[in-house]
Amino acid sequence: MAEIHLTGRAASSGLAIGPVTLLATAVARRTDVGDPAHEAAALQAAIEAATAEIAGLIESVQGEAADMLEFQVAMIEDDALAEEAYHAIAEGAAADQAWRAALDAEVAGYRSAEDEYFRARAADLVDIRDRVLAHLSGADPAAKIAGDSIVAGEDITPSAFLAADWSRGGAIVLAAGSPSSHVAMLARARGAPMVVGLGPLSWKGHTPALALVDGDTGTVIFDPEPETRRRFELRMASAKAARAAAEAVRTEPARTAGGRPISVLVNVAALDDIDGLDPAICDGVGLVRTEFLFEASHGLPDEDTQYAVYRRIVDWAKGRPVTIRTLDAGGDKPIPGLTADGESNPFLGLRGIRLSLARPQVFRVQLRALSRAAVHGPLKVMLPMITVPSELDRAASMLDAECSALAAKGIACARPPLGIMVEVPAAALRAEDFESAFYSIGSNDLTQYTMAAARDVGAVADLNDTGNPAVLSLIARTVEAGRRRGVEVSLCGDAAADTRLTAVLLATGLTIFSVAPVAVARLKAVIATVRP
Ligand code: PEP
Ligand code: MG
Repeated sequence: MAEIHLTGRAASSGLAIGPVTLLATAVARRTDVGDPAHEAAALQAAIEAATAEIAGLIESVQGEAADMLEFQVAMIEDDALAEEAYHAIAEGAAADQAWRAALDAEVAGYRSAEDEYFRARAADLVDIRDRVLAHLSGADPAAKIAGDSIVAGEDITPSAFLAADWSRGGAIVLAAGSPSSHVAMLARARGAPMVVGLGPLSWKGHTPALALVDGDTGTVIFDPEPETRRRFELRMASAKAARAAAEAVRTEPARTAGGRPISVLVNVAALDDIDGLDPAICDGVGLVRTEFLFEASHGLPDEDTQYAVYRRIVDWAKGRPVTIRTLDAGGDKPIPGLTADGESNPFLGLRGIRLSLARPQVFRVQLRALSRAAVHGPLKVMLPMITVPSELDRAASMLDAECSALAAKGIACARPPLGIMVEVPAAALRAEDFESAFYSIGSNDLTQYTMAAARDVGAVADLNDTGNPAVLSLIARTVEAGRRRGVEVSLCGDAAADTRLTAVLLATGLTIFSVAPVAVARLKAVIATVRP
């Protein structure tokens, strides 16, 4: 057989080689069917068992995996999901047929949604569908995937992903799928290469035995010729050697080839990002995305809960600076009960600081918890989605008021420096107008707003480019404003970890980068190659 080259979209970086495992989606059929009351009871029992099973799984995972499963629990607990199935059962359908038809219709709706966020959630619904069907038929719901294999299929459910041991290698290659799906996020967090959107995987009756996966370029080669395989294995060996060399200098301070010192900080999106992590690998924490606290509590985490989390991060950093961002809900981060429903364009709606100012009772609790944690180390507070100076001024007055109120009650607190994220072009163009203690550039949003290309829409991914001169000039402008005002400027968006951009970003005058912990070693290694 000639080797087959397919190109899709890169969803999780890295190289992998391994035997191909096809994802089986078959679920055993149920044979005994009773009257409508019996069928309705069977469906209800299966839904309850599936819900309990997902809740049990939540106990065994953390971070994004737990968030994803909580999302599934919220979906399955929504009575509207099974409504159609119960109607069909009342009209004589069997429980499994009724449930499958109802969920297939939902899945089709999600798959054809305009919004990539909803399309990316279709795999969660398939997961729920199959889990309930498995309970109805008594089958084992978890697809078995051996570690170190290249898993190929139409799409993969989060449960199937979580059932495999990715520490042994392997990769995922999908005909459909999305880089912003829950599975793609999990794959990135676990370092499993993933390519999506390969199109129909038809091998004309012959299933390939072996595949080579390049999660950096989004290419997959099935049944490679010996020479292709040999060259790929050489690339894997040199990538492994580069990783090992980078790991060896992970705790060294970053310096360019010309000797310029560069600060490398870490981004924290959940407490398990820093669990077991040596703070010596970084110069501090450049961004704590506090959304995880609000998602976990399904609304408003109380002041003590927030204080304990902020303090834990400050303690972990052992005297290094820690920048905690206030709630950045809305846009691509909806929080049920808090963010506005039905906005026609949530990215341009009530998100970030706009939402916090509109919900002062929620915002004030966070400001109090942050002021209390600031007693324990160099904590700074950062405001997301700032567009005009009055937003910073209003937030500053509220922070002052909350600090004074705490002090009046004899509660230990310190007023943290208050800075802004620069992620809206209006703020980048006029950065010097803001009385900000520092600037942190959010390249993810700054890029999407400058290029008018949403960060989660694959079809405009080429335009969503931080390396575009328009975005780079806004970054350079912000750096210059910081220099003139004598305040620090850092970069905490994903571009900070994109080592293809490191040289041009350093050329804008940036000296502080904040990236996910997994990206620290590679970034430091690339900084060391940049002149001057
Ligand atoms: C950004 O926009 O670059 C950023 C860091 O914020 P988030 O990705 O959380 O919106
Ligand atoms: Mg942002």
